[in-house]
Amino acid sequence: MGQNTLDPEDWGAFRASAHKLLDTAIDKMQSAKEGRVWTPLPEGMKEVLRADLPADGLDHESLQMKLAELLPYGVGNTHPRFFGWVHGAGNPGNVLAEITSAAMNANLGGRDHGAIYVEQQVIEWSRQMMGFPEEASGLVVSGTSMATIIACKVARDSRLDYQCREHGVGKAPLVGYVSEQAHSCIARAFDLLGLGSGSLRRIPCNDDFSMNLAALQKAIEDDRAQGFEPFFVVGTAGSVNVGAIDNLDALAEMAKKENLWFHVDGAFGATAILSKTVQERLSGLNRADSLAFDFHKWLQVNYDAGCVLIRSKKKHLQSFSGRAEYLTGVNKGLAAGELWPVDLGPELSRGFRALKVWAHILEHGVDKLGACIDENCRQAAYLGEKVKQSAQFELLAPVALNIVCFRYLSETESDLDTLNRDIVIALQERGIAAPSTTFLNGKLAIRVNITNHRTDIQDLDLLLEEIQKIGNEFAK
Ligand SMILES: *Cc1c(COP(=O)(O)O)cnc(C)c1O
Repeated sequence: MGQNTLDPEDWGAFRASAHKLLDTAIDKMQSAKEGRVWTPLPEGMKEVLRADLPADGLDHESLQMKLAELLPYGVGNTHPRFFGWVHGAGNPGNVLAEITSAAMNANLGGRDHGAIYVEQQVIEWSRQMMGFPEEASGLVVSGTSMATIIACKVARDSRLDYQCREHGVGKAPLVGYVSEQAHSCIARAFDLLGLGSGSLRRIPCNDDFSMNLAALQKAIEDDRAQGFEPFFVVGTAGSVNVGAIDNLDALAEMAKKENLWFHVDGAFGATAILSKTVQERLSGLNRADSLAFDFHKWLQVNYDAGCVLIRSKKKHLQSFSGRAEYLTGVNKGLAAGELWPVDLGPELSRGFRALKVWAHILEHGVDKLGACIDENCRQAAYLGEKVKQSAQFELLAPVALNIVCFRYLSETESDLDTLNRDIVIALQERGIAAPSTTFLNGKLAIRVNITNHRTDIQDLDLLLEEIQKIGNEFAK
């Protein structure tokens, strides 16, 4: 053994502290429904985390305690009353997948080893789930933001005949379209890819916050008249603000007619294809040229894990492969493997995210995952009804999916934006619940997103009670 190995000197002590930490982690998850939602990191611990670079290491016991100390201070998304933004709640089973993946320490850039086959299986399952054709390809990535960059690049490169890979985009007058409710990651992708975020047109929405297709048609025509080249349109399947779903079938038609790449941002909404009640409204999703979605949101896989699917594997490879003869590699030995992930995305070294997705789907099966999604939609509908029926609240958007946007009304307080913002902050700081806020038609909304398999109806009742209590307290 080398003098400087990083393996434990005392495997027994390592094993004992590892088992202890595993128990502490399981305790934490078993009690996920109890206690505060969000607990800010105490000053003392912030101080500890500003320590100087250590020259010497710790013993196993001390390190295990340091790790365990962090457990209470997450975002709060493991709690049933975490309603902010769009966060998945995670699941205990993934702890085992993460242990396995850490023990393997696999690099999924390529080569021929077990982990590669697991990722291929996850992509194949995703393809089946989303109804993409057999010649589709895909990659497990950090999340929808990265998936969007990859999809946009394939769209851009295929439009410019892959010349831009070497020569840059120059002054290519390419423009794309999203709804005003679309996520900012698409504009970021345009920025990163040298197209410029200004080349992404934001199309107004209908009353239900889905993209107005007449406005889209007009924007395309106006752009063409001005010498721009429309090449890309995004359908949002589940918008961040209100959970709106664009008319994907109509967008697929329009994309075909106008010769545009049709991308779908289905970060959380696409996985609702597993829900019997939502499925139908995602019709057209399987016609997309590319799809970005997350496993870590509504499928409850632990952070982070998302997916990009590209309808044409050929185009996907042409956009990312550095190997001229990308379909022929070595066919024996560790360097074999017909398709290396490095030829499908920007990263060479890649971790084994796919394992926790694979294990999660194996553990629960997709019917149960779909049932959790169904239940969240029923809960959102319930909350929306309660809000509608109470004179104390105003519903600010129709409940399309799993998101309820509303505000507390007060007879004594005229600045409702400030009042509602303060209510949300108080809910978070008091550890009661963690909704977030957004603006809809100029009004600040309390935004309750339910992508949480631990949420019960009682959590929603309690939320409304507490909002009323705090609203009453603040309005005086
Ligand atoms: C969360 C979200 C994104 C970004 O996904 P990440 O996984 O956070 O990168 C994009 N679009 C929508 C609609 C989202 O909800």
